[in-house]
Amino acid sequence: MANKSAQREGATAAPEERDTYVYCKGCGTQLESRARLSKPRAVVNSMMCESCQEKHGHALMPAPGEPTYCYRCGTLEEVFVTPGISPATYHICPQCLPDRYARYSAGDFDSDLTAKEQAKAEAEEKAKRAAEEASA
Ligand SMILES: [Zn+2]
Ligand SMILES: [Zn+2]
Repeated sequence: MANKSAQREGATAAPEERDTYVYCKGCGTQLESRARLSKPRAVVNSMMCESCQEKHGHALMPAPGEPTYCYRCGTLEEVFVTPGISPATYHICPQCLPDRYARYSAGDFDSDLTAKEQAKAEAEEKAKRAAEEASA
């Protein structure tokens, strides 16, 4: 009986250790405890380790075309480029954004574009109406 309770105590693992750190965007190495960043006045000056900052000449993101790693979990991010006249590049972490990753993998970028276009159309419509009301 005594053995059992002792075993249980020893088995206590650190809860969700993955979630308590942030990771370098350039190489996925563990950077710093997230606890500091969750403070209200915390300032994020960099999202990469020192060697990556030197390599890319930037503090936040690797140079265009370079692989990126998830700031939240350190997983290599998948790069998606939308088709069209003005292609957009998305860096998607399959761990943190599984839904979007699945959608983009299937070549479905439309949901995002449609939402954007809708918002734009609505804004234009509003502006038009406001202009009409002003001139009336
Ligand atoms: Zn790095
Ligand atoms: Zn992630």
